[in-house]
Amino acid sequence: MQAQSNRRGRAHLGVLFAVAAVTVTAPRLALAYLAADGVEVPTTWRVDLLAVSSVATSIVLTGGTAYLAHAIAVASSGRAALVACWAAALGCSGALIAPAIVASLRVQPLAVVLGTSRHWSWSVCAVLAVDLVASGAMLADARRAGPDEGVVHPVGILDSHPLTNVADVPQGVVTSATALLYPCPWGCGRRFATRDAANGHGRHCTARAALRKAAASENNDLAGGAGGREVSQP
Ligand SMILES: [Zn+2]
Repeated sequence: MQAQSNRRGRAHLGVLFAVAAVTVTAPRLALAYLAADGVEVPTTWRVDLLAVSSVATSIVLTGGTAYLAHAIAVASSGRAALVACWAAALGCSGALIAPAIVASLRVQPLAVVLGTSRHWSWSVCAVLAVDLVASGAMLADARRAGPDEGVVHPVGILDSHPLTNVADVPQGVVTSATALLYPCPWGCGRRFATRDAANGHGRHCTARAALRKAAASENNDLAGGAGGREVSQP
C-alpha cells in the first residue's frame, strides 16, 4: 500500500512539473498575445510579469531536467523517448545559459554576444526548453502509471516475479512487504495483504492450475485403468 502511494506521489510529481512548466510560460504567452493584438502593457507590469516568469522558468527547467534524469534511471523500458526529451531540454538549457554567462563576463548586452543571426535560435530554445520538460515529465508520469494500472492484485506486484523473495525486497519497500501476511493457499509463493485477496487470485494462480491439471490426468489414468481391467477380465 505504501509502495503504491509512493508510486502515486512520484507520478504526482511529474504532473506537478508539467503544470508548473506550462504555468511559468503563461505570463510570456499572455504578453506575446497582448503585443500581437496591439494592447499596450504598462512597463512596470511587464517587468514584474517577466521577472516572476524568468525565476519560475529557471527553477522548473533545472528541477524538470533533474526529474527526467531520475525517471530515465528508474524506467524499466521505453527510455529512448525520455532520453530524447531530457537531452533536448539540456541542450536548450545550455544554449540559453552559456551566452548569458559570456555576456556578463564580457560586460556586454546578451543581444550583442548572440549576434543578430542567433537571436531566433536562442528564442526558440527558450520556448522549447520548458515545453520539452513539460512533455518529458508527462511521459515519465504515464510510463510509471501505465504498467500498474489494471493489475488484478496490485498487492502481489512485489513478488510477482518467481525469483523475487519477500526477504530480498529493497529497504524502501520492506514496510509494504511485511503487510503481505497471507500466502497463496495453493503454494505458488505469492503473498497478499488480505485472506480474500489470497483466495481470490486462484484464477491466476499457476500452482493451482498445475494441481488441477495433475488431478485431472490422475482421474483420466484411473478411468483408463479401470476400463482396461474390465476389458481384460473374461
Ligand atoms: Zn497462488
